[in-house]
Amino acid sequence: MPFATLGLADDLVRAVAAQGYATPTPIQAQAIPVILAGRDLLAAAQTGTGKTAAFTLPLLQRLDIRREGRLLPPGRPRALVVTPTRELAAQIADSVRVYGRHLTPRIALLVGGVSMKPQFDALRRGVDVLVATPGRLLDHISQKTVNLSSVEILVLDEADRMLDLGFLPAIRRLLALLPKRRQTLLFSATFAEPIRQLSGDFMNDPAVIDVAPRNAPADRVDQQVHPVDQDRKAALLSHLLNAGERDATLVFTRTKHGADRLSRQLERDGIRTAALHGNKSQAARTRALDDFKQGRIQVLVATDIAARGLDIVQLPRVVNYELPHVPEDYVHRIGRTGRAGCTGLAVSLVSEDEASRLHTIQRLLGRTLPSSVVEGFAPSTARRSSTAPASAVPGARRHHPQRAGASSGERSASSSSRRPAGSGGAAGDSAQRRNYHQTRRVTTAGGRS
Ligand code: AMP
Repeated sequence: MPFATLGLADDLVRAVAAQGYATPTPIQAQAIPVILAGRDLLAAAQTGTGKTAAFTLPLLQRLDIRREGRLLPPGRPRALVVTPTRELAAQIADSVRVYGRHLTPRIALLVGGVSMKPQFDALRRGVDVLVATPGRLLDHISQKTVNLSSVEILVLDEADRMLDLGFLPAIRRLLALLPKRRQTLLFSATFAEPIRQLSGDFMNDPAVIDVAPRNAPADRVDQQVHPVDQDRKAALLSHLLNAGERDATLVFTRTKHGADRLSRQLERDGIRTAALHGNKSQAARTRALDDFKQGRIQVLVATDIAARGLDIVQLPRVVNYELPHVPEDYVHRIGRTGRAGCTGLAVSLVSEDEASRLHTIQRLLGRTLPSSVVEGFAPSTARRSSTAPASAVPGARRHHPQRAGASSGERSASSSSRRPAGSGGAAGDSAQRRNYHQTRRVTTAGGRS
């Protein structure tokens, strides 16, 4: 189904075509007609599903900037997009620019960590679409440089993450400043209870679209667990990164400090690396992301928050250097690979003290992940007992020496990349795998439930 059949105006269809996108993704096919019809929308869709275009395109059409003209005074946006991270905000603003190239909306980007001055200037010039992170937006409101009383369309993007980051009070303050009569679009990776509650409080009979089943990892991701001692993780990671293909790899650590330390260690091992986390300046973050996208560095070491919403398509490999505390974050993390028709590899380095975390993740996924010891990196528990290899980790088995020419990581990477798109993985886990282009459901929520 081409974009034109969704009811989008020619100017927008042309802008999409210029990006090389021929077919809408499932979230786009479902959300665009609903938004064009003026309805509120509650959508479960993760980054990577094409959700940004799913709201940006119809939002631009509804603003109908050409016909409506530019009558509003400075600092009064007609559309407001609120999102948790600076990177995500910048990417959304870029998308508005790209898709709005024939409509030329005035865009302002209000994020923290950078000077207010250029933001004041942008607001003074007048703004149609305002993209902001909650804290900086509230700063502007308190300085009276932004006035939300003319907002016609509100988008809350990555709403679940905003709640995780403690932005709920900020969001409620913002909502109180918006006109009651408006269109509200809420995007979230999951429909956890707090999201349902929030949407019930301020949305009006929203259509509900779910293209991101809560516990289903992205399609075509090979998942591997390597049991290893905590103090051997860095060496194992260097070994995996140095062996086989030098695939671009996103590595997750739990802490900013851990990200810096690991990044320095990998550099010492000759692997070009940058760390991405909240303590880095905006310029450093932009540079790291750019270097990674351009292939100037092989590895990006990131915390969950920093990695959230990064617009990196076709990432071949994700490594969980440490398992996340929140099991759902595992699904978010590995969702960074195996996207849009490509295969991906998600490797978790799991130490004995993380066994219970792995267990929780496996319970969430509804299956045991394949686990194998990498030659030369057997955890000490396994070395102590020759009869019980890697007993700390459920399902672990040892690599047979004859097959250890490459680590299991590399072997999986090559086998997965040979697999035809959509063919699924090991027998028995096909039920967990969902195809990117498979459509789920559109339903209508029964009022303010
Ligand atoms: P998002 O989920 O919005 O972060 O988008 C993920 C990536 O998919 C972005 O790089 C988009 O540029 C890309 N994308 C968006 N729509 C399409 C489409 N219809 N076909 C192919 N790629 C798309």
